[in-house]
Parts: sequence; C-alpha cells; structure tokens
Amino acid sequence: PPLYKQRYQFIKDLVNKYKPKKVADLGCADCSLLWMLKFCKCIEVLAGLDICENVMKEKMHRLSPLPGDYLQPSERTLIVTLYHGSVAQKDPCMLGFDLITCIELIEHLEATELEKFPEVVFGFMAPAMVVISTPNSEFNPLLPGVTLFRHPDHKFEWDQAQFQSWALDAASCYDYTVEFTGLGAPPPGTEDVGFCTQIAVFRRKYPNTGEPINLEKPTENSYRTIFKAVY
Ligand code: SAM
Repeated sequence: PPLYKQRYQFIKDLVNKYKPKKVADLGCADCSLLWMLKFCKCIEVLAGLDICENVMKEKMHRLSPLPGDYLQPSERTLIVTLYHGSVAQKDPCMLGFDLITCIELIEHLEATELEKFPEVVFGFMAPAMVVISTPNSEFNPLLPGVTLFRHPDHKFEWDQAQFQSWALDAASCYDYTVEFTGLGAPPPGTEDVGFCTQIAVFRRKYPNTGEPINLEKPTENSYRTIFKAVY
C-alpha cells in the first residue's frame, strides 16, 4: 500500500495495542486518519486540529453518524470534534489526551511555529503518548524527481540525525521517553539511508493521575470549533 496508508495503519495498530480513549490528530487535513479511527471501539473522544479550515471541511461530513449508528446505538459514546487553529497555540480543549498524532506535520511549520511546538504539545497538552512522523531527507536520492524537498510546502526536511536529536531534546526537556522507527524500508544494500518516513513514538514518563494535568493552568481558547458529532 502507498506510504500515507501505511502511516494511518501504523497509528491504527498503535491504537489497537494501547487502547487510548482520547485521541487527537494535529494537522488532520481532510480527516482521513480520524475517519479510520472512528471505527476503533476503544476511542471515546476524537479531535482534529488544522490551520486550514477548507481542507478540513472537504470531507468532514464522513465523520457524522450514519443511520445505522442511530438504529443500533452502541454501548460506547463517541464525540468527534474538529478545531480550526494552530499547533503553535494552546487551547484547553487539547488537555487530557491519551494519544496525540502529528503525521507529516512538523515539516510544514514555519521556524517560529516549530520553536513553539514542543512546549505546546509536550509541555502543555502533555498527552500520555505522542507520535510524530516526518520525511527522512537521506531517502530523497532514492525517490525519482525529488530535487530539494518532496513537497513545495515543506519548510525543511531532516536527516535521521537531525530528527533524532530534535526529538531527544524534546523528550528530555518534557520528561518523555522516545523510540524511533519508520515506514518504507530502503532497498537492500542501502540500509544506512533509513526509512522513507521517519517516526518518533514518545511516552510520558510521569504517571497519569486520571485528571488532565494542566487543567489548573488558565488558558484562553484559541481554536474555533468547526464540527462536532456525538454518537
Ligand atoms: N496529517 C495528514 C496526513 O498525514 O495525511 C496531513 C498532513 S499535510 C501534509 C500537513 C497539514 O498540516 C496540512 O493540512 C496543513 O494545513 C497543516 N498545518 C500546517 N501548519 C499547521 C499549524 N501551524 N497548525 C495546524 N496545522 C497545520
């Protein structure tokens, strides 16, 4: 399957393994990952955030309950909410999550946004688990037609050492562990190049008290709700 589907499947497998109840996808674009995750029975709260309202609206109605959901109500409650806003800004609606995913997001951030990102995601949102994926620039010579970046909107693409040192810094600063993996293995003989997509999986070291950790912190709302579905 194409790499973007492998990335969604990677998250779905993680969800099936760790059974998070509250999951947020930052930079959710057309909500494809959220749509896949709504079928995971363990999830009770699903949230999406993107800075581009139009891309979120394209297919968001797929997140609405279907007639069958009303005819055969399930035991679980599920609330799906989409927010328009930036990962460079804090909003209390992102507190108390078990898993936050950032798939192919960071390379789209301006330098000032990227600088704020660790404090917002790890420091403020502080979910039990964070997954971040980004292109591995060392793989680019193996991709036909890629000159500088894989996509014109990318602000940077990191090699393995750059991504890993950034991720290790964030982890140690905010008390997380981090493990590296990836998708899209290099051809035999070129193993040093690493995966086409590099992935960091972070886990919060300090225990979950059951209560959102930062609920005390007074924070203004900075995101705008553009969609909400209650199952
Ligand atoms: N995560 C999706 C996926 O894997 O298919 C989409 C990734 S797309 C390449 C990057 C997304 O990040 C875009 O939808 C873009 O609008 C969004 N984005 C860029 N800067 C952002 C920011 N500061 N805050 C939130 N989303 C942002």
